[in-house]
Amino acid sequence: MAPALAPAALFGLLIGSFLNVVAWRLPRGESLVKPRSKCPGCGTQLKAYDNVPVFSWLVLRGRCRGCGEKISARYPVVEAITALLYAGVVAAEHDHALKCALGLALVTFLVPIAVIDLDLKRIPNALTGPAAIVAVVIGAILDPSFLPEQLIAGAAALTFFLVPAMLSRKGMGMGDVKLAAVLGLYLGRAVAPALFFALILGVVVGVAIIANQGMTEGRRVKIPFGPFMAVGAVIAFFVGSGLVDSYTSSF
Ligand SMILES: [Zn+2]
Repeated sequence: MAPALAPAALFGLLIGSFLNVVAWRLPRGESLVKPRSKCPGCGTQLKAYDNVPVFSWLVLRGRCRGCGEKISARYPVVEAITALLYAGVVAAEHDHALKCALGLALVTFLVPIAVIDLDLKRIPNALTGPAAIVAVVIGAILDPSFLPEQLIAGAAALTFFLVPAMLSRKGMGMGDVKLAAVLGLYLGRAVAPALFFALILGVVVGVAIIANQGMTEGRRVKIPFGPFMAVGAVIAFFVGSGLVDSYTSSF
């Protein structure tokens, strides 16, 4: 059966549009469902035809129709990334209900988590909590035999991140520890390559910032770790199990 990529991408665009709303309103304690989105410049509520994911931003060339205020490119970028990831998950796992459902749910939580952590340098419990519950519920419904691996991986990832988080004053925080546990619940043993990729990415970006700004200045820059974990998790979702298999079978 050919996977339904176009519907998955279109659905991903709509979800991505909602995730933009979540990423802005949730950490500010605003309602996620009303009112409709407004232009930050003139306060005009967006008409439905000016709120079509990606396309409206392109048609209006990134400006408000009413006042010409610039609208950040991050909105269409978040929508496009969500659409790509939805299509990617369906393409890779369309004949595997458990992994498909886990992948779509994982993407749906990781996108606002990464955006909020970039913005505000924190990861809300209001996202990691529900993300953990959804992972366990999906596992329990679709394949209870995978649940032990989910729970063990979640506990292992939490323990692995807890010690450095408690030792470091800045840098890794409890939000990162909870996110690591969530990744274990979604990825099972593939959480190991996910955290490995995240740490490598973090080191590379950290070194680049120090090279760019010098040791004293560069060390002061606080880099949120959540986005690296999100990228690592997505890579591990697509290639992680294969990596773990080939690694363990080489002994
Ligand atoms: Zn405006």
